[in-house]
Amino acid sequence: MNVVAPCPQPLNVALPPEIPAPDFDIKLPSWLRSCLRANKPSDCLICRAFRFAHELHRGQTRRSGEPYIMHPVAVAGLLRDLGGDETMIAAGFLHDVVEDTEVKIEEIEALFGADVARLVEGVTKLSKFNFESKTEHQAENFRRMFLAMAKDIRVIVVKLADRLHNMRTLEALAPEKQKRIAQETREIFAPLANRLGMWRFKWELEDLAFKYLEPEDYRRIQALVAEKRGARESRLEHVKKLLGQRLAEAGIESHELQGRPKHLYGIYHKMTAQQKEFAEIYDIAALRIIVREKEECYRVLAIIHDAFKPIPNRFKDYIGLPKANRYQSLHTTVVGLNGRPLEVQIRTEEMHQIAEYGIAAHWKYKETGGSENTALTTSDEKFTWLRQLLDWQNDLKDDQEYVEQLRENLFEDDVYVFTPQGDLIGLAQGATPVDFAYRIHSEVGHHMKGARINGQWSGVDTELQNGDIVEIVTQNNAHPSLDWLNFAVTPSARHRIRQWFKRSRRDENILRGRELLEKELGKKGLENSLKSAQMQAVAERCNYQSVEDLLAGLGYGEITLNLVVNRWREMTMKTQQTEVTLTASPVVSPAPAAKPAPSAGSSPIAGVEGLLYHIAGCCHPLPGESIIGVVNRGAKGISIHRQGCPNVDQVDGERLIPVRWNAAAQNGHTYPVSIIIEAIDRVGILMEILARLSEEKINVRDARVKTSVAKPALISLELEIRDHAQLEVILTKIKNMSDVLALRRVNGLD
Ligand code: MN
Repeated sequence: MNVVAPCPQPLNVALPPEIPAPDFDIKLPSWLRSCLRANKPSDCLICRAFRFAHELHRGQTRRSGEPYIMHPVAVAGLLRDLGGDETMIAAGFLHDVVEDTEVKIEEIEALFGADVARLVEGVTKLSKFNFESKTEHQAENFRRMFLAMAKDIRVIVVKLADRLHNMRTLEALAPEKQKRIAQETREIFAPLANRLGMWRFKWELEDLAFKYLEPEDYRRIQALVAEKRGARESRLEHVKKLLGQRLAEAGIESHELQGRPKHLYGIYHKMTAQQKEFAEIYDIAALRIIVREKEECYRVLAIIHDAFKPIPNRFKDYIGLPKANRYQSLHTTVVGLNGRPLEVQIRTEEMHQIAEYGIAAHWKYKETGGSENTALTTSDEKFTWLRQLLDWQNDLKDDQEYVEQLRENLFEDDVYVFTPQGDLIGLAQGATPVDFAYRIHSEVGHHMKGARINGQWSGVDTELQNGDIVEIVTQNNAHPSLDWLNFAVTPSARHRIRQWFKRSRRDENILRGRELLEKELGKKGLENSLKSAQMQAVAERCNYQSVEDLLAGLGYGEITLNLVVNRWREMTMKTQQTEVTLTASPVVSPAPAAKPAPSAGSSPIAGVEGLLYHIAGCCHPLPGESIIGVVNRGAKGISIHRQGCPNVDQVDGERLIPVRWNAAAQNGHTYPVSIIIEAIDRVGILMEILARLSEEKINVRDARVKTSVAKPALISLELEIRDHAQLEVILTKIKNMSDVLALRRVNGLD
């Protein structure tokens, strides 16, 4: 591994005489020694960070008895081996000083700059959590929280180096602690390393965790591998020799043939997950061929497929179609010697580095100027780009999965908080204690009295921050406030608050509704009416299922008394006309609007005969939809709204009059309807939507498309629609188009 020195190391320059070779009480790795010898302490960030940490950790020892400073030195060394920049290496030295000594983060910033301070602060913060996860879901939440909290991805890499060294030196700890740390490593840190494509880190973390968690299995597999290694290697030698000849004949030089190592935990995991015997896994020969040029990869593939019989459906071209974490390689499986399957990976050296070290490889290539990674060389852009990739890792098997991963990625802005018991809860950005309470349980929300955040009493509208510990205080007689709807952000909390107001006071609301109606109809009249078929019909026309629902709605203020009374009068008048008698027998609702008043046949709207009226521009009602008339102040006649139009809610009940559509409403009339379509911005999408409309013979008055970078296109259309049924048909058609994401009717009430 040729590692690029991240620190100025003019080793070939004679040392200035005034700087003596530094002398420390501990054995330092040679890279650090030469760095210290070669640079004036003031010149080199790495040297200064080391000296500072050395001073602060003086006298501290690790469990093993060695000086504490050896741990930061080792972590810094791991980061250096990864090709980390000097900021990262300095952070490696300093990562424990805020946690373990008196130093404040402000001091680190003053001495080493904002970048180093940010990394140290991030690592310190992540160390504070106790990740004793209870479920797999919980572990996933932790991993996400890590990524959300680490605004700079380098924080995670420093943390991983810290964990790797702690795992390597786990021997010194008590068995109980070993298990806890190993478990955490398996659940949180190894998958994180995997997400970052740091395969080397992943397998070492997994193997070390395996050693402490299943010590007997670990030793068994270790022994089996040792026993079989000889046979496996000699088989591989044979294949390597044969292929080496073929490649040489084809003029492909400086290829490197490697038997692919299989790490112990990987073997164990396959054995348990796939119920296989050790031999079935370990005996599959795996070969990696590393060449110089991309083009050679394909030539090598052809040679292999010529020498051995390929097994169908096992060829994968990750060079043409790289995985989302930039992994590139050709994979194939062939029938090898003795009829055994042989797995082959073919890649260039650069691809190999990325496969082994993941994002860390990009730092190396930044130094050496890797050819195709120019997009990765500007540091800020690099990290945003990498962050976007985190969730789209390795295992994207097909398009469906890809889309799901993308969708999950939308939740990147989640905020992660804790219950007092240490359970981790993910909520939408901007969430408040109200959202948190309803996430715990709807009863907790309904009885929330107040909240403590990190032990402090806080307003229930406080915006939660990552890592907050939230405690909800409940009281039996406490109940939701309508005001909560002003700041609760999660749809489920908002929904439950509304439900509470509708439901939990249902009896009260029904009672109030009765009182209101009683005023209008008289006590006796009300008693009779409530049981009548007409009242049921009124309820249905007002979009309620039962008379009780209607009364509750009336009591809750969802519907106005005048509207109910008008409906009632309308209905009783109609029954008189059609001579339906009152009956207490099972309620059958007469189909309203089935029989329009004959005198009104020529006008589209019944109930406004002889009056000036117009169709309201706010809600654009269509034939087939329930409507209501509003008597306008002044001489502007009556405006026809859809039932439930928010503008009607404001209107004094006395100004409402019952109206309905006549059959004549559909005689060749059309009505304007505006819709907005959110769609994936691609060429031809508007044309396809317009084609759907023309199939339905719908005229388009206006069409506008608004596009902005990285957002769906917004297509606004103004249509001429015959009736509700026609609108439904066309909306469904458009909704079902694959690139249409969302669709709504402007000022639509539904
Ligand atoms: Mn540490």
